[in-house]
Amino acid sequence: MRVLIRNICVFIAALAMPVAAHAEEPPEVLEGYWSLVIHGGAGTISRDKITEEKDAELRAKLTEALDAGEAILADGGSATDAVIAAIMVLEDDPNFNAGKGAVLTWEESFSLDSSIMEGRTRNSGAAAGVSATKNPILLARAVMDNSRHVLLSGEGADVFSREQGLEQVDQDYFSTPSRVEALERFKQRMSKDTQSAQHDALGRDARFGTVGAVALDQSGNIAAGTSTGGMTGKRWGRIGDSPIIGAGTYADNRSCGISGTGTGEYFIRVGVAQEFCTRVRLRFHEMMKEAQAEVPLREDGFPSYIVHASEFLYPAAEVQAIADEVIGEMGALGGSGGVIYLTPWGHSGYSFDTPGMYRGRADSSGRKSVAVFADE
Ligand code: ASP
Repeated sequence: MRVLIRNICVFIAALAMPVAAHAEEPPEVLEGYWSLVIHGGAGTISRDKITEEKDAELRAKLTEALDAGEAILADGGSATDAVIAAIMVLEDDPNFNAGKGAVLTWEESFSLDSSIMEGRTRNSGAAAGVSATKNPILLARAVMDNSRHVLLSGEGADVFSREQGLEQVDQDYFSTPSRVEALERFKQRMSKDTQSAQHDALGRDARFGTVGAVALDQSGNIAAGTSTGGMTGKRWGRIGDSPIIGAGTYADNRSCGISGTGTGEYFIRVGVAQEFCTRVRLRFHEMMKEAQAEVPLREDGFPSYIVHASEFLYPAAEVQAIADEVIGEMGALGGSGGVIYLTPWGHSGYSFDTPGMYRGRADSSGRKSVAVFADE
């Protein structure tokens, strides 16, 4: 019967949605299954703009982040620990716009944002505009675990971070020559042509580097986290989507875990992360009903089989189509970027509207890959 239900679902999905390039079919057996998906930002990443050495270096770092999370998940550890471990590898690497290597604000300082969420309880923690925490994702976790709050910001968050005993660093620690140059270029463009510089900062030309991870552990729990320096030249205390639960990060064991990267203003306006999870959850119920309606009736008019949620297989193409729709809606408003996601049924995938997104995934079946360009 399971096969019949699967076939009905695949058929319905094929009628309604295009086949997606970035989705993988979930495993048949979920017991003992774990999965991890990561990103290192999306943007105008193209083959002619990146040397072979840099490409190899970035892919090696993504693999290292996957390895860090995988070690925890394979050992039966929690999704939250795996997300933190993967993100910390990327925060410590100067290539990514999080922790060391973060972009500079207009005032030539660093103002970091992070968030984490657990799908079992929907407990979450986030920090915005912090200036001295070496690994901002640890601060998000401390807010989640050790405070009554969800989001702390600015000076207060810095104080909380110190009180929590998290490692503090000078602002110089975050600085890298390429980010200093990027700010100089941004300021030059801004002085020449405010309109196009604003577009660069918020639109399709910006190059991102935010990092994120989503994990499903062997107990079936999902966690998602995101960490960023925000956008080059940001000012007036601007905060993007990354520390906003529901915009840049969301996790709910009933539907999905997701982390986003891109023009934060548009991710906030659409509520990208929660919108995706909500649609996945509601579509699941709809598809269950559709599958039930396809089951032949007995002579007495009752269904010959009652479709049960635990044996229902949610086609990967359906989940991917929802991700693509939400990214499409964000893009239609003028934004740009991408997401990584996982579901409690074991789907994992990406959706992005940029030429590339640094990304990778691994699971307990031995599948492991990293990719950069859209056509991979
Ligand atoms: N979403 C981040 C922000 O708006 C930037 C990024 O993803 O690169 O702050």
